[in-house]
Amino acid sequence: MPKKFYITTAIPYVNASPHIGFALELVQADAVARYHRQKNEDTFFLTGADENSLKNVQAAEIEGLAVRALVDRNTAKFVALTKALNISNDDFIRTVSEKHFAGAQKLWAACRPEDLYKKKYKGLYCVGCEQFYTQKELVDGKCPEHQTKPEVVEEENYFFKLSNYQKRLEKLIASDEYRIVPETKKNEVLSFIRMGLEDFSISRSQQRAKNWGVPVPGDPTQVMYVWFDALSNYITGLDYATDGKVYKDYWLKNENRVHVIGKGIIRFHAVYWPAMLMSAGLDLPKTLFVHGYINIGGGKMSKSLGNVVDPFALVEKYGAEVVRYYLLRHIHPVVDSDFDLKSLEQAYNADLANGLGNLVSRVSGLIEQNNVKIKVDSKKLPVQSAKDLDQLMAQFVFDQALKFIWAKVSELDSYISEKKPWAMAKIESQKKELTECLTKAAAEILAIASLLKPFLPQTAAKIEKIFTAPKIKKGESLFPRLT
Ligand SMILES: [Zn+2]
Repeated sequence: MPKKFYITTAIPYVNASPHIGFALELVQADAVARYHRQKNEDTFFLTGADENSLKNVQAAEIEGLAVRALVDRNTAKFVALTKALNISNDDFIRTVSEKHFAGAQKLWAACRPEDLYKKKYKGLYCVGCEQFYTQKELVDGKCPEHQTKPEVVEEENYFFKLSNYQKRLEKLIASDEYRIVPETKKNEVLSFIRMGLEDFSISRSQQRAKNWGVPVPGDPTQVMYVWFDALSNYITGLDYATDGKVYKDYWLKNENRVHVIGKGIIRFHAVYWPAMLMSAGLDLPKTLFVHGYINIGGGKMSKSLGNVVDPFALVEKYGAEVVRYYLLRHIHPVVDSDFDLKSLEQAYNADLANGLGNLVSRVSGLIEQNNVKIKVDSKKLPVQSAKDLDQLMAQFVFDQALKFIWAKVSELDSYISEKKPWAMAKIESQKKELTECLTKAAAEILAIASLLKPFLPQTAAKIEKIFTAPKIKKGESLFPRLT
């Protein structure tokens, strides 16, 4: 039986078009999914959209649209982004779907009755965050994420008794039974838990929810708090509602359940989500990878500043492979990084056009010019690199993984410069040496292509096509220099 592997991205609100930050998350999760598939693991990769958020309701009101019409239109853009970036997700969960509603309600009903209780509540609520804040968490009376004044909300809601799980959550995370990467985020979560966990509200009134969202089972006056329903997507997307085969295969009979998220929603994934699953008596996720944010000029991207980077425009101009490469290699996997077009173009010319592209042209050109017959046994490719890459991928350090592959590109470049096959070609007695040198180079390039597959799948396929052809030809340049 092949090992199983399950990976998810977070599901973003669909109140606006997707931005570059979500493109980063998709590309990171995709590289991991493809990496595990390449190792012949039975892999399932889920992404989706959070359509039940109150933010979507507000966006629809502003546009004068029905909420359903707005989420249908905007979710289509998120689906389009997965295609534009060549993301290999196996499914896309929509939280307006019947299977999600049924699954979220099943999870609610499965929670231990002693963990859920109803109480009157008054609090400061940020709709942007879909979260209550305490007075001391605010900055100048405003939400620290949105710099807006939270609303005072008073109503009777259901609460989840998070305090029942404090000890178990602490142990779960301290022991790495639920591993949080990077370590700094693990420590943040631990100190948050050790400060004492407060129960959190898991529903809101039907009225405040504007009749949008998943109804609480058995209580038509209440709609589930959007985070309760959104988190459940990780199992509802696997047909948890019907105990379907994908749920059994990838959640129950699988030890590798990985969530990829941005740092803004870590508490929900590191604390609330495992507590909900414990209460329902279900298996817990195993790994949480937390990526950083993409900034512009050191600051946040925002619509009002007009500096939002549109991932579709980038793909249109440079192609999916270049965008994938830039996001994985030059955006730090966990530290906030600046995005700028100048550095993207520099990376393109230096790493892709002059580095990899040039190496492929150089070697295929030498083979074609000298009419050398190359036969590479693709089953005997150099494999010593796989272990090193394994370790880097387990730590989600995509930048280092690509650096490692690019070191192989430089090594091979140096090998060719030293051997000077073009000089051998002029001396009849060195024909055999010439063939050996170029055969070795072709085998190394195929090994590089194999390592590249999870990151740049189309480029890897092009390289394989060139070097496994019956007659190797130089062909077109993989990455023409930008002028
Ligand atoms: Zn907020």
